[in-house]
Amino acid sequence: DSVFSNIVRAPEDPILGVTVAYNKDTSPNKLNLGVGAYRTEEGKPLVLNVVRKAEQILVNDQSRVKEYLPIVGLADFNKLSAKLILGADSPAIQENRITTVQGLSGTGSLRVGGEFLARHYHQLTIYIPQPTWGNHTKVFTLAGLSVKTYRYYDPATRGLDFQGLLEDLGSAPTGSVVLLHACAHNPTGVDPTLEQWEQIRQLIRSKAFLPFFDSAYQGFASGSLDADAQPVRLFVGDGGECLVAQSYAKNMGLYGERVGALSIVCKTADVASRVESQLKLVIRPMYSNPPIHGASIVATILKNSDLYNEWTIELKAMADRIISMRHQLFDALTARGTPGDWSHIMKQIGMFTFTGLNSEQVAFMTKEYHIYMTSDGRISMAGLSSKTVPHLADAIHAAVT
Ligand code: PMP
Repeated sequence: DSVFSNIVRAPEDPILGVTVAYNKDTSPNKLNLGVGAYRTEEGKPLVLNVVRKAEQILVNDQSRVKEYLPIVGLADFNKLSAKLILGADSPAIQENRITTVQGLSGTGSLRVGGEFLARHYHQLTIYIPQPTWGNHTKVFTLAGLSVKTYRYYDPATRGLDFQGLLEDLGSAPTGSVVLLHACAHNPTGVDPTLEQWEQIRQLIRSKAFLPFFDSAYQGFASGSLDADAQPVRLFVGDGGECLVAQSYAKNMGLYGERVGALSIVCKTADVASRVESQLKLVIRPMYSNPPIHGASIVATILKNSDLYNEWTIELKAMADRIISMRHQLFDALTARGTPGDWSHIMKQIGMFTFTGLNSEQVAFMTKEYHIYMTSDGRISMAGLSSKTVPHLADAIHAAVT
């Protein structure tokens, strides 16, 4: 008899489990809109040309070795990542009061940030938006923080519940950590306007909250790296402190390379260096030091202006294809006379549309049309193509009529 014989089977991950179910489906029309990974018009995963070039440069460089990186990762990568999100002219960078450590993509960077806060920050409550990316609650709870939510999405308008957000944060205890999606909120595709961000910033600073940005889609929302970084830069611009977790999964298509960064912006260089010394104590017993390959690709691209420019063009092409899918889906529903207002498909931003379809409608679409998505009605626009839009529109039409 196994010593593990009384282990209880755990449920599949609500997001990654969608792909497990999709893989089992034998229908030729099956469509996976569950996982947030970019696909081409042909439905294929995309390796950016600029990534291929960077890898070639790395392979040809005979001086490269496979030694361990330092605990905090690749120094160049860390500097360039901070510059990418905060802007080259950021006072926090110029005054050297920021510490950046390489992380295992966005998830690992969030986790390191959470673990650090649980050990060293005076307020152990983190407020996350309702709804949010499903992994946030687990990451921060297991890091040792107490997770509470603030209102974010209004199902009636399929837009931002700005009043609810201000009320909930307004009544949160002073000093709480507040998690903010830097852009392209997942799963809703709903972002505050810049004016609303400014009001959020004022509230956060007036209550001495600690903002923790999750930046998983820089460049993916608007097609512009700078425009998508505006909210983070607004907060860093006021001289206050914050954390930022970055992911290169989407914007460089480096999903499986697990490359990301955690930056902590502090008030002084001395504080930043002490914070970094403690981050090392968090990282060392977890995975010792991060992997070298993905971070080397990113650093190669970010430090070479030709490669950087080529990247921005490829990134914009991905963002534009997603935006075009929004228009095509909206048009297809309009052409079918599908009941309801579907304008939110075009208004929402980034990789996902929060359709408003309920879990019964989602289950119907999966059963009858072999379309896979999370049960909250979130669809990945990046998984759609001109060829599959009609099939999805048929399914939505049938689900709501
Ligand atoms: N945060 C958000 C909001 C996300 O959507 C994702 C990816 N789905 C992540 C973080 C982390 O992704 P990764 O660990 O692959 O970078």
